Amino acid sequence: MKCFSKRILALFFITLAGCTSAPSVPSPAATEPATARVFKNTQVSLTFDDGDADNYSIRADLADNDLHATFYVVSGFTNSNGYMTHDQLRDLYNDGNEIGGHTLSHQKLTTVRGAELEREICQDRSNLVAYGFDVTSFAYPFGHYDNQARQVVVNCGYTNARGVSDGPEQIPPQDAHGLRAMPYIVSDTRLPKMMRYITEMDDGGGGWAIFVFHHVCDGCDPYAIKPEVFSKFAKWLGEQQSNGLIVKTVGEVMNEK
Ligand SMILES: [Zn+2]
Repeated sequence: MKCFSKRILALFFITLAGCTSAPSVPSPAATEPATARVFKNTQVSLTFDDGDADNYSIRADLADNDLHATFYVVSGFTNSNGYMTHDQLRDLYNDGNEIGGHTLSHQKLTTVRGAELEREICQDRSNLVAYGFDVTSFAYPFGHYDNQARQVVVNCGYTNARGVSDGPEQIPPQDAHGLRAMPYIVSDTRLPKMMRYITEMDDGGGGWAIFVFHHVCDGCDPYAIKPEVFSKFAKWLGEQQSNGLIVKTVGEVMNEK
């Protein structure tokens, strides 16, 4: 084994010597495509459900790449074990990220009615407003909703609400309170697939890709993205912004004009 390593090392030095004596020719940037892609009418939103504690770890990835995300928070869970604290939410918010509502206790909204339904949606929003956040976006827990739940979301003052499937969404969306999202990002969703969702949408005429993330960790949950995969995705998104890709929070997309 040792002998083998020495041989490799020797080959390396021979190669290196060969390189230094070769005429100096500028090497082409092999990794760069001949012409950079120009995104025409494509928007992306990064959304995180539940306010999981590990979500705070991507704060620098977002800031370093000039990206803002939407964090849908279950206000009955914040400040408890496994969830972000009020201070962490405020840090994310002060960075330009959006805080949205995700109910008081993560109930399936098709199974709660009347005053309980209102409490889940409206009290949650009031809590988040009381923490000092401007709250206009909502996400249905598990993506479950019906006409009654949708109406309470409207009545509680939300300008938009996101489901968990049927994306990509069009611009403008056909139902602001039934926003369609890309398939769940799970632990085996690979980076090229996430990029392809966006490039294929752009090739097909554009639209709005709303990504739904949950945990950010290496193997802690089936609904998790690995930190290094998210870092690479964030870097790529950051770079593509100079090629015309628009990355905005859900609130920024829905409340502009
Ligand atoms: Zn959720």
